Amino acid sequence: MSVDIGSNLGRDMYDLIVRLFPICRSITGNGVRETLSIVNEFIPLEVHEVPTGTRVFDWEVPKEWNIREAYIKDPKGRRIVDFDNNNLHVVNYSMPVHKKVDLRELKTHLHTLPEHPDWIPYRTSYYNETWGFCIPHTLLEQLEDGMYEVFIDASLSKGSLTYGEYVLPGESGEEVLLSTHVCHPSLANDNLSGIAMLTFLARRLADLPRKYTYRFLFIPGTIGSITWLAQNEASIRHVKQGLVVACVGDSGGPTYKYSRQGDAEVDLAARHVLKHCGRRASLLDFSPYGYDERQYCSPGVNIPVGLFERSKYAEFPEYHTSADNLDFVTAEDLDESFHMILRIVNILENNRKYINQSPMCEPQLGRRGLYDTIGGDKDRARKQMALLWVLNQSDGDHTLLDIAERAGIDFDVVLNAARLLEEAGLVKAA
Ligand code: ZN
Repeated sequence: MSVDIGSNLGRDMYDLIVRLFPICRSITGNGVRETLSIVNEFIPLEVHEVPTGTRVFDWEVPKEWNIREAYIKDPKGRRIVDFDNNNLHVVNYSMPVHKKVDLRELKTHLHTLPEHPDWIPYRTSYYNETWGFCIPHTLLEQLEDGMYEVFIDASLSKGSLTYGEYVLPGESGEEVLLSTHVCHPSLANDNLSGIAMLTFLARRLADLPRKYTYRFLFIPGTIGSITWLAQNEASIRHVKQGLVVACVGDSGGPTYKYSRQGDAEVDLAARHVLKHCGRRASLLDFSPYGYDERQYCSPGVNIPVGLFERSKYAEFPEYHTSADNLDFVTAEDLDESFHMILRIVNILENNRKYINQSPMCEPQLGRRGLYDTIGGDKDRARKQMALLWVLNQSDGDHTLLDIAERAGIDFDVVLNAARLLEEAGLVKAA
């Protein structure tokens, strides 16, 4: 698995985000279908529809929500808020409404962000039947007394929950789960970045030899992972580990939240990649809050699934506001996140143990030309140390990741050393 710097990947991911951005998504409805049909142009997604009312563990698949139009007209009949301009203007899962209300009543249905008066907040009301609008605080301050017309042409009715799944078989039936949420409307980092990331990661992995089977899930947050787990209980035991991917297009972080186990291979791999990524990384202990790792890490499921992000959700000011837009994510940051995740996957794929075939003192590396193969670049000393570390630690007890950690050398360098030593007949895979 090689890492190609300077590709157009970041740009391709960004372009997909631009296409998906205008669509009004929610935990159910046509926005998710439209989103998945666009992803399907890139990878052959299997799209599942689970009917409203289906029991999924302690939950039930909700009614399906769709919205066509919404506005507020001021006392002079001017449209001062229009869903067509920004789909964040309507509280996600609002009930339909069409009536005239006075300013006092209107204000009980308005949401603003006084600390960022020009931004529109993102609000949802999935499990509480109400209606509402989200507007800039500056607009709220300009509203005068009088009667306002509020109109939301939405429907909340029997339908289904839609999710996408893509499985890439590997040599082993053991699976790595890669999961992202698809339920947010026009918000770029949270979480069109995750959708674009898994789409292009799936395309890349499809072209590479794979030890593991990779299962990609594009699901609405919380209810989507609960639904998938409830409908695939028999498959859960095949999933060895996984990652939830979200908020991967901004310039912060990276951030990794450990799985419930905390020391699963994916945790150790992510920790290693973040320590060596050249940025100020944050490693966070597991907590039963956050994205869908909450469900994958519930005690009855207990798959070691970590959360990979750049900035941590809810801690960047733009989070869940209209400022999480196409200016907040960049092709460069998407590209960088892609390669961090690919490095984690690369460790999972190649983290094996070797046995030194010449363990009585050091073998002569110069005689075998091994010092020549590592080149004369500035990394020469580090590569030479990697050869010595792999030879020393390859007693069948230590994985390459153990060796990389103990040596303080990047996994890729250690892996390359092991391959050179294997070609020279000095180590054998255990
Ligand atoms: Zn969110």
